[in-house]
Amino acid sequence: MMTGTAHLFIPGPTNVPADIQRAMIVPMQDHRAPEFAEILQPVLAGLKPVFGTSEAQIALLPGSGTAAWEAAITNTLSPGDKVLMARHGQFSALWADMALAMGLKVEIIDVAWGAPCPVREVERRLGADRHGEIKAVFVTHNETATGVTSDVAGIRHALDASFHDALLFVDGVSSIGSIPFEMDAWGVDMAIAGSQKGLMCPAGLGIIAASPRALAAMDTSTMARSFLDLRAMLAAHQAGSFCFTPPAQLLHGLRAALTRLQTEGLANVFARHQRLAEGIRAGVAAMGLKMVAEHQIFASDTVTAIRTPQGIDARDVIAIARNRYNTHFGGGLGPLAGKAFRIGHLGDLNEGMCLTALGIAELSLKAAGAPVVLGAGVTAAQHVYAGVAQAPALSI
Ligand code: PLP
Repeated sequence: MMTGTAHLFIPGPTNVPADIQRAMIVPMQDHRAPEFAEILQPVLAGLKPVFGTSEAQIALLPGSGTAAWEAAITNTLSPGDKVLMARHGQFSALWADMALAMGLKVEIIDVAWGAPCPVREVERRLGADRHGEIKAVFVTHNETATGVTSDVAGIRHALDASFHDALLFVDGVSSIGSIPFEMDAWGVDMAIAGSQKGLMCPAGLGIIAASPRALAAMDTSTMARSFLDLRAMLAAHQAGSFCFTPPAQLLHGLRAALTRLQTEGLANVFARHQRLAEGIRAGVAAMGLKMVAEHQIFASDTVTAIRTPQGIDARDVIAIARNRYNTHFGGGLGPLAGKAFRIGHLGDLNEGMCLTALGIAELSLKAAGAPVVLGAGVTAAQHVYAGVAQAPALSI
């Protein structure tokens, strides 16, 4: 039997704070009654600053981030349209697969898993697209599989510099609500999130924000859509409800989550994620391990993917953490299976939790046979959190 608290350090679903849990314990209610708008409207309004938009319209889709991926495609594009995207991790790869499955032509830029979306190469491909065949550029803002954040503002610049009018779709599933996201300033046309990461709620809602250009593209798009018809959902939201039975409890949770984010202040939320991530990265380096992210500059502030040393199977590390220490780390996905494990550090999190994650990672790595010095990672992170430089190791 496991004792004590289970520690959840997967990069989503994240910990749901007690006040959000409590906010969801409500009686069932009539979602066609006028009062339902009193829950829905504050949620839609509260999400706008989190997405960095005043211009976009937001739709809530029962489902998850994957549903919002699909909605972005089917509501704005037509079969045979070409889209451009980098494939640099499991989630960008899955979105590309989906685009192909839905009948799009997908121009893929394959880069190393550990690198970000390559802005210059995107600009080159857009510049070479003389007949404007590329209808949309897809960017995975934060590749949760590798712990890499891409430069969405740079992609907007690449579009503008090439005088290209392709739509810009951004997957912000593991970034929105945790690190800066500026939908309007970056000219994002479709921004995608889920309820279960930075928004600290259970999974169950895909959230999508559509720019005026994306809304206009819905007039000409001919792809089939029904359950995920955004115009129908936006009209229903306008009237204060959903097209079908909504997950009302989740809306109550989301409203409480947005209140939390507003109370802490978005700038403070982003600064906290950055500070906590710096501690994790310092800890990983002090353990003598490498991140999957090829450079600190684009290392994610919401998830760190860590390579295990040669000969150490990351699956063993994860199993030891789970079975001995009641602690859950994310696994290596796709080609990173067995080679990496991931620490999610997003959502409702503080320094103590990050030190626990590092401490358990050290114990589990050591038990799996890795040559880590117990306490080295924790100490390095403590120095980051204390704001003091780490003293050099004593040599005797
Ligand atoms: N995109 C990214 C970056 C993700 O991290 C995930 C899930 O972890 C998804 C998309 C898929 O979202 P969901 O699992 O909510 O469908």
